[in-house]
Amino acid sequence: MIQTQLYIDGQWQSPIDQGTRAIVSPADEAVIAQAAEATRADARLAIAAARRAFDGPWRQTTIRDRARLLNKIAELIDRDAEKLAHLESLNTGKTLTESRTDMGDIAATFRYFAGLVASESGAVNEAPHHVISRTLREPVGVCGLITPWNYPLLQAAWKIAPALGAGNTVVIKPSNLTPLTTHHFTQLVAELDLPPGVFNLVTGGAEVGAELAESVDVDLVSFTGGAFAGESIMKAATGNFKRIGLELGGKNPNIVFADADLDAAVDYALNAAFFHAGQVCSAGSRLMVEDSIYDAFIGRLAERLPRIVIGNGFHGETQMGPVQSAQQHEKILGMVQAGIAEGARLVHGGKRPPGDVYKRGYWLEPTLLADVTAEMKIAKEEIFGPVITAERFRSEEEALRAANDTPYGLAAAVWTRDLDKANRMSRALRFGTVWVNDYHPYFPEAPWGGYKASGIGRELARIGLDEYTELKHSYINLAPKAMGWFGA
Ligand code: NAD
Repeated sequence: MIQTQLYIDGQWQSPIDQGTRAIVSPADEAVIAQAAEATRADARLAIAAARRAFDGPWRQTTIRDRARLLNKIAELIDRDAEKLAHLESLNTGKTLTESRTDMGDIAATFRYFAGLVASESGAVNEAPHHVISRTLREPVGVCGLITPWNYPLLQAAWKIAPALGAGNTVVIKPSNLTPLTTHHFTQLVAELDLPPGVFNLVTGGAEVGAELAESVDVDLVSFTGGAFAGESIMKAATGNFKRIGLELGGKNPNIVFADADLDAAVDYALNAAFFHAGQVCSAGSRLMVEDSIYDAFIGRLAERLPRIVIGNGFHGETQMGPVQSAQQHEKILGMVQAGIAEGARLVHGGKRPPGDVYKRGYWLEPTLLADVTAEMKIAKEEIFGPVITAERFRSEEEALRAANDTPYGLAAAVWTRDLDKANRMSRALRFGTVWVNDYHPYFPEAPWGGYKASGIGRELARIGLDEYTELKHSYINLAPKAMGWFGA
């Protein structure tokens, strides 16, 4: 049985009140670990340690030191990639293939930021000859990093790599449903010779996250999760006007025009919606198909859905695992029922798969609801499960209006062979990422984040590093002379 601890001030330790939480496999509900469950008091210790480390010698590290650190972490991730992928699948239920991909992306993220950090150089500004004016990037300070349960270590990496790379100190709080890979990652960091307090792990629930958001000793909070928690973090951050980054939910349209390559569009409509059983912030669960091909498109999806292999993520033939928690299972089934009650047509799924192996665990069939209209709850709210809702549209204008008519703005996709239309749509869609003739690709070089209620700020790319820095104007007058302006 795996047992996890907190990592505070360079020491592994139990929570002050000895709290633990049973971590359950989504595939069969077996207890797979006992995780340390921290409270606010533990979070305060971690914040104090991070504060001391930031105010101490860590500030003196060079960009070379920090680039080397990130590259070293990438090497350790590569070394333990199989172990980490195994833990991620065990804890989240996603297929081992997906977890292995995540680990590759995580190592790539650390290497990308290592390169970026190493290339950092302040700017010397034009100024009078007796003045040295420089623009410098400096770390923000103590960073509280709060991550969700769907991509536990990937989301953590998007925050940790730029935070450490920019010279900050870190307190990370993973979701208390999925702490295992962040715990193993912390073991890797503990192998390195970092000053105590530079990197701290506090596993626990909402109150630990709230402490990070409220503490005046935290200078920046970066949060990935739902809107409800995001809102309370934003409010709490006003205590010391700390910097915030919010990566929130999405309602992401996948728009298929009649002139698209339909073989690819049908195939990707499934990828968009069913990777990690639809528990992806950018999942393309809102399928919108042009009227003239709508019925044929639904027919082709209906043929593919029963062939999707649902099963344990460790079995090689599995294409889709369970959803992560009982709460999520119940919520998704409730959304499907709400859709049917509002008049959507259930084409496939909408229930636990039959068979003894699916009696325990949080299993759902891949689900297709057709004849959905834009006013229905299922077309408006994030479902976060293996559900495609299919709407029909008659014109480009109608598709655009319906797609943009959402409080969210994370990601969208357009399928067409008409390049002019592709360009028009990708300019007019109000989403942080717009894919054309593809779905889901993201990489460290390109920014990630949402418009509107999908968040504040961006991760990855240069901007993902800049978010963890303060910009300073340093002005040095080498030959000061009295001005004699006042009362001379
Ligand atoms: P959640 O908001 O319930 O929890 C996220 C994290 O915040 C967890 O660590 C949780 O313990 C913590 N938390 C909860 N309440 C808090 C509070 N009041 N103060 C501080 N911390 C608090 O979200 P979840 O259910 O874990 O994740 C699913 C959500 O995350 C979905 O809405 C999904 O779209 C979103 N998400 C977004 C992105 C993105 O890049 N935009 C990526 C992944 C997930």
